[in-house]
Amino acid sequence: MTAGEPRSDSRNSADQRSARPGNSPHATAVPAPQPASFASVDASPVAQNRRRVAYRDAHNHLQDVWLAPHLERVCAQLEALPIRAAVVNGTVDNDWSAVAELARRFSWVKPSYGVHPWLVGNRGTHWLEALKSLLKEDAAAGVGEIGLDRWILDSARPDDPRLAGLRRAPLEEQREVFTIQLQLAAAENRAVTIHCLDAWGMLTDVLANSPLPARGFLLHAYGGSSELADHFARHGAYFSFNGYFLGDRKERQREVFRTIPLDRLLVETDAPSMPLPQAWRTYKLPPTAHGQPVNHPANIEAVYAGLASLRGLPLEELAQIVDANFRRFFGYA
Ligand SMILES: [Zn+2]
Repeated sequence: MTAGEPRSDSRNSADQRSARPGNSPHATAVPAPQPASFASVDASPVAQNRRRVAYRDAHNHLQDVWLAPHLERVCAQLEALPIRAAVVNGTVDNDWSAVAELARRFSWVKPSYGVHPWLVGNRGTHWLEALKSLLKEDAAAGVGEIGLDRWILDSARPDDPRLAGLRRAPLEEQREVFTIQLQLAAAENRAVTIHCLDAWGMLTDVLANSPLPARGFLLHAYGGSSELADHFARHGAYFSFNGYFLGDRKERQREVFRTIPLDRLLVETDAPSMPLPQAWRTYKLPPTAHGQPVNHPANIEAVYAGLASLRGLPLEELAQIVDANFRRFFGYA
């Protein structure tokens, strides 16, 4: 694919929560055209930005099995961007060693360990001891991905292949595991990454009744309202913009990110989840055996370009702002 008109499927992306619409057949780097809905903001192709900035992905899952067959090439492509840092989030105790291994291998991998709300029902008996011991081994490691998700209980399709084999923990159990991890992060002032889907009332309640890390906290792929964003920002929140929000049907979320305070903005892929609309994908990977699209972590460059357009900022200026926020929040140079 070369720069030009957006592909027609970019106008029809499914509006599913953390969905993985469409598929991506190739693994080559190609310049991405700007979707029609952004043409009036900034029409410069993403590829022109290459090597003008170093990228920082505030949230991905490089350890995910979906990326395993492509890991060597994916990491080489990330290093060519260049990637300056990527916070790699564990999701349950049995993937934390893979996160730690990536952090040993790549200096730009910044590890974070936590039990994701989708995996709360599958956590091991000794998960908390294991988490404490990993945090003890690495004073810079974050806590995450943790949080609350009512969507998997109320709205997810029963046959969603991403949820196969999971015991979907009730919200109260999710809350208990989330709160324990949040309190641990607060006690050690760790960078904590929070996932929230359809559970804003409970999140507000937990945050109001728990100690919070002095450095603040990250609401990743923030999907809440502007009013709630103001509330959370007053309590120290950072908000990461995800490329999934570049979809045509995500205008409401783009509107929220137009007004997030600049000193609280971060950028993320959540790769291999949350694929960008087809027209924005600068890097592609083959779909899974079930036909689920796999988001390439190097699409972080397109997410930066999308957010720069949204905020009406030159890419370099946005990158400087994100650098400062990333270093302040995560504590990495
Ligand atoms: Zn995630």
